[in-house]
Amino acid sequence: MPKWILICSKSKIEFQHSQISDVGMSSLLLPDKPLIPIGHKCVCPNCGFAGLYQRTDLRYRHA
Ligand SMILES: [Zn+2]
Repeated sequence: MPKWILICSKSKIEFQHSQISDVGMSSLLLPDKPLIPIGHKCVCPNCGFAGLYQRTDLRYRHA
């Protein structure tokens, strides 16, 4: 399943932010990036670092 990923600012390892539903994939265009609330920290499952990320940090990955 395709997903949005973030690159950990500490370990530089990518991790999943969220999955993209099949509904979003019915279009040939990339689905809209999800919003990341200001101040929300995403925790890297690889090193445990909780970092602040912006919507522009989200990258598309085709599973
Ligand atoms: Zn990390």
